[in-house]
Amino acid sequence: MENRYDKMVYRRCGRSGLRLPALTLGTWHNFGEDRSYESCRDLLCAAFDNGITQFDCANNYGPPAGAAEEMLGRVLGRELKSHRDELIVTTKAGYYMWPGPYGEWGSRKNLLASLDQSLRRMNLDYVDIYYHHRPDPDTPLEESMQALADAVHAGKALYVGISNYSAEDTARAADLLRGMGVPLLISQARYSMFNRLFEQKEQAVLLEKQVGAIAFCPLAEGLLTNKYFHGVPEDSRAAGKSVFLSRETAQGMYVEVAKKLDAIAGARGQSLAQMALAWALHNPAMTSLSIGASRVSQLMDNLRALDRLDFSAEELAAIDKILLNVPPFY
Ligand code: NDP
Repeated sequence: MENRYDKMVYRRCGRSGLRLPALTLGTWHNFGEDRSYESCRDLLCAAFDNGITQFDCANNYGPPAGAAEEMLGRVLGRELKSHRDELIVTTKAGYYMWPGPYGEWGSRKNLLASLDQSLRRMNLDYVDIYYHHRPDPDTPLEESMQALADAVHAGKALYVGISNYSAEDTARAADLLRGMGVPLLISQARYSMFNRLFEQKEQAVLLEKQVGAIAFCPLAEGLLTNKYFHGVPEDSRAAGKSVFLSRETAQGMYVEVAKKLDAIAGARGQSLAQMALAWALHNPAMTSLSIGASRVSQLMDNLRALDRLDFSAEELAAIDKILLNVPPFY
């Protein structure tokens, strides 16, 4: 599509030269062996046609683990090969991938072996961003960060990131990596109207160190849409096998709060999903949001969040009031 870049907002990631799309397509769900090639192809191609230049993956996404990388690699190879230089492809390591002492966490052995596996599965020479997926309490941070820096020196990654790190470890990781000549590009953290812990945790240190941020689960896995307003649809995530979003949760308190937020969204001329995304992008530390979609229509709906990103002080205050005392969604 000729005009794909006119539709998207691109934001500089921290103090780097890299600009990322405000919306990124995540492949945690909907890219496993339970989905058809056609469905994954349609999602990835629709995203790219609308200026979403970043696809977020991890070694363990599936099911089974590894399947999302394989699917992403297949679509990239068949449909988007000539566009490789227009795309940011990410992967991560840290969660359980293979048996024995080297199949997870943050040793040099794990991080570098896993990256080689990921590149093989995706049939790529390099990833654009390589993340340490979770902190490892038993491995010195120096070792994990050196492994990330060495992945860059080996030409297997262009930039490095961290995910699920505390504020203190984020600061240390940024300092260590700077000393290694490979600046920390980005931190991937949970952030949505239903989980604002980021605002008290990593946010200040990311702004201070000029490191970018990408939110995951910005729609709280679908709770920040209108999809559960009249029960749990059988084709929804809450009706499936998710261990994080249960059927009970999708019928409980969050849905009632979502209905109140939906009234504000309606007054802004937006769907709740669109307003929830615009709200997360309003955070000064946020570079991009990694969104999920089980079908192209959701993606198209969510893209329209970009039509209205501004908020009045009254709208923000009304949202804060509704969210006051709402416990963080895991
Ligand atoms: P979201 O919060 O964006 O939830 C996406 C889900 O919400 C969709 O799959 C769909 O669910 C529903 N949905 C989306 N848009 C609409 C809409 N317009 N109308 C109705 N329903 C809608 O994010 P995810 O939980 O999918 O996570 C996004 C990404 O974040 C992941 O793919 C991954 O890249 C990243 N991530 C990173 C983690 C980390 O540790 N670093 C952890 C978790 C995620 P349904 O199937 O019900 O249709």
